[in-house]
Amino acid sequence: MADVVVVGLGAFGSAALWRLAARGLDAVGIERQGIGHAFGSSHGATRLFRVACMEHPGLTAIARKSLALWTELGEWTGETYVRQTGSLNVGAPESRPVKGVRAAAAAAGAVTTELTHDELHEQFPQYNLAPEDVAIWDPDAGICYAEPTVRAHVAAAVRLGATVYPHTMVTGIEVRPDGVRVRTPTTTITADQVVIATGAWLSKLVPGPALSPRRTPLFWFQPKDPASDAFRLRNFPSFIWEFADGRGLWGHGSDEDFGVKVGLDGAERDRDIDPDELDRYIHPRKDIAELSAAIADHFPDLDPEPVKLMPCMVTDSLDGQFLVGRYGDRVLIAGGDSGHGFKHCAGIGELLAQQTTKETPYTDVSFLDPHRFQR
Ligand SMILES: Cc1cc2nc3c(=O)[nH]c(=O)nc-3n(C[C@H](O)[C@H](O)[C@H](O)COP(=O)(O)OP(=O)(O)OC[C@H]3O[C@@H](n4cnc5c(N)ncnc54)[C@H](O)[C@@H]3O)c2cc1C
Repeated sequence: MADVVVVGLGAFGSAALWRLAARGLDAVGIERQGIGHAFGSSHGATRLFRVACMEHPGLTAIARKSLALWTELGEWTGETYVRQTGSLNVGAPESRPVKGVRAAAAAAGAVTTELTHDELHEQFPQYNLAPEDVAIWDPDAGICYAEPTVRAHVAAAVRLGATVYPHTMVTGIEVRPDGVRVRTPTTTITADQVVIATGAWLSKLVPGPALSPRRTPLFWFQPKDPASDAFRLRNFPSFIWEFADGRGLWGHGSDEDFGVKVGLDGAERDRDIDPDELDRYIHPRKDIAELSAAIADHFPDLDPEPVKLMPCMVTDSLDGQFLVGRYGDRVLIAGGDSGHGFKHCAGIGELLAQQTTKETPYTDVSFLDPHRFQR
């Protein structure tokens, strides 16, 4: 009998498997697809890495834990998992990025810098700002590398003794007084505990938490002038920008060959999808027109036609926070990523490992308690 089975090896599950194996536990990981695949929520080259998180001040400790763990992993593998080039949170003084990041930084003791409209315009001429726009600079932020990190988590777990079954779908989980039975089409694995981290598919294995998977394509662009340095990562670091109408853009520049990543927030469509029926086609009018128009208005030196695109999903919870922790006897879950989970995944993997072994968690995570909606 294994100590723990982790079901789903995307961002959250791969990190949990690594942190469980790092404790010397007999850990088994089961993934329906290949490791680092492009059919869930953790694919594409990069994600924004932020430390002062407008979503909740409690997330700062988790982002910092991810950074520490990834630094340690990088010393082992020789790879880089985070590039800290700073990040801009842009909008009117009352906008969510500006107000939310200021409050989160103050609560979490994160150092940030305020930029006036004129300073922002002078330092970042790529932005076609509204007159009221100001910014908060988060110097510890940057980008993290998505698919390589998932693969590195799993490789580290295997080196530490974990067993991994890729291309294996879990079809049922049965909790008994003497252990958990995790069924696949070919075998049943028994374990003391199970961590279920199946992303957009969480509700299919765990009835209860109200989760809403949402189709969210990824897009990459190029500067109009291919010789321009204006959209290199060092000159165009990661950003979140909220407009007066509540929509917004997020993204970052690139020193590598994958292009300038930009996405649109606030487009109300494709919610409550069945992840098994995700529409993987990209539709020029539906998917691209609104984003291209926003880019033409706000970054006039970027070519508004994307050079690359991929479908992806986020899974929204009722309050925009993850669901992480014990969900029943022998069962822990990690899901409801709500579109901002990657930067926290190593820290969440560590929390899951701590909860599995009944260690004291390194930070208070009551705001992520999966039972919070039932109270
Ligand atoms: C467009 C976009 C932009 C984003 N931007 C950012 C960002 O800038 N910063 C940030 O921090 N986060 C960002 N995110 C969010 C981040 O990518 C997610 O929070 C994270 O990838 C969620 O990981 P997960 O492990 O929950 O899901 P997944 O990576 O999808 O993992 C779930 C895994 O479970 C497997 N699985 C499902 N069912 C079964 C089964 N029955 N048996 C076995 N395996 C199963 C799936 O195949 C999958 O591999 C973004 C997301 C998207 C889509």
